[in-house]
Amino acid sequence: EGPQTTYKRVMLKISGEALMGDGQYGLNPPTVERIAQEVKSVHDMGVEICMVIGGGNIFRGLQGSAQGMERTTADYMGMLATVMNALAMQSALETIGVYTRVISAIPMDQVCEPYIRRRAVRHLEKARVCIFAAGTGNPYFTTDTAATLRASEMTCQAIFKGTKVDGIYDKDPELHDDAVRYDHVSYDEVLQKNLKVMDASAIALARDNSLPIIVFSLDEPGGFKGILAGEGTYTKVG
Ligand code: UDP
Repeated sequence: EGPQTTYKRVMLKISGEALMGDGQYGLNPPTVERIAQEVKSVHDMGVEICMVIGGGNIFRGLQGSAQGMERTTADYMGMLATVMNALAMQSALETIGVYTRVISAIPMDQVCEPYIRRRAVRHLEKARVCIFAAGTGNPYFTTDTAATLRASEMTCQAIFKGTKVDGIYDKDPELHDDAVRYDHVSYDEVLQKNLKVMDASAIALARDNSLPIIVFSLDEPGGFKGILAGEGTYTKVG
């Protein structure tokens, strides 16, 4: 049996870097497989799952433009990076028997599906994991905003932001022993104190749609499933 959950449909947002493992760049297959198992365990509880994966393990627009590349071109490269990560996750999920659709904000029909809202909803109803790729399809945005946008469109009950630590702290817990974790913070507090959760446009969009953001550690085995059942430690923004 195991833990139960009241959630029916959720968004899981992870950064591209979460797929690097101990590496400095790109994809670490055992790490991708481990996260796929975390997703499967929640899927097995009967929860409908949306995912957005960043691209920072491969390419970030801001880094490219800092090196002299035109910003919009660099951002499109970043969006393409998220498609690669999404395909890797799809492969890992389908290997363990979880039907998955990669849905891109930028149409590339030979690679994955284009984003059509009603079709995506139908996939979720049929218990397929939907991985939303290519961000919002627009430069100058991030995958945090894409996750918030898609979560709103798919009427997810919450965004689960999987990170290296189990929530939001008043200072970096990896550097300070006396860092204190918030149990709950408001959207405005995140914006005012400039807490590093998601960028400001994503937080504002979540606020305007009353979409809670649960920040938790994805490094903890069984962590995602536990958090959905209300176990373990996390920070709730909302
Ligand atoms: N990106 C974009 N528009 C979007 C989403 C992403 O232009 O709607 C680009 C942007 O260049 C960003 C890159 O894709 O740097 C990778 O996304 P992000 O930095 O959010 O990835 P993460 O930090 O979560 O790995």
